[in-house]
Amino acid sequence: MLAIGLTGGIASGKSLAVQAFRALGAPVIEADFVAREVVAPGTPGLKAIVERFGREYLQPDGGLDRRKLREKVFTDAVARKDLERITHPRIRVRLLEWRDAQDAPYAVLDVPILFESGMNALMSRILVIDAPVDTQLQRLLARDRISAGLAGQMLAAQASRTERLVWADDVILNAGEPAEVSRAVQQLHPFYLALAAGAPRPSRGLHLP
Ligand code: ADP
Repeated sequence: MLAIGLTGGIASGKSLAVQAFRALGAPVIEADFVAREVVAPGTPGLKAIVERFGREYLQPDGGLDRRKLREKVFTDAVARKDLERITHPRIRVRLLEWRDAQDAPYAVLDVPILFESGMNALMSRILVIDAPVDTQLQRLLARDRISAGLAGQMLAAQASRTERLVWADDVILNAGEPAEVSRAVQQLHPFYLALAAGAPRPSRGLHLP
């Protein structure tokens, strides 16, 4: 089974690509959902976070105050490392279990922090959703309604556009209409099916559109 690691900067358009793969029937898992599951109420993950950060990061209903923790770790590198030490191994285990349970020619694992977490090593192939940084920032501000300062810090905490492109096998440039992303995914689908069926890997991946 071919494990496709889908990644890209925040607000680059990964969710659009996820929708397009699902529409084609490809199994997709989103690490952001797994990241919530591993810190849900009653989990060892949430217990470890409370031990490290304190009960002030809990909401009145006992769930994690994700917004508050996100703001904390984007401005405090030590706190970020500590949080990652709690969450990343748990996310990794769940993704591997999921990958190994799939019965399909290929499966897509959407992992925003693929390179930062080292989880790129779990993938057969890496697909990067790419966008110019200005466009990415505009989409992020419009979607999440955060301050420009926090948005800049969030971008700075991630791998750079250049780093991602160096590591990519395949690239979808999401700089035009959203429909271009689904068209690109429709082109990748037969390509991944062929690779899964044993076609030789081309020396250069697909760069779309
Ligand atoms: P990600 O999943 O990578 O964080 P999203 O797919 O959620 O990014 O896209 C970020 C935001 O930008 C969303 O609000 C989305 O609707 C918008 N967006 C994404 N691609 C385009 C595009 N090509 N044109 C206009 N808006 C877009």
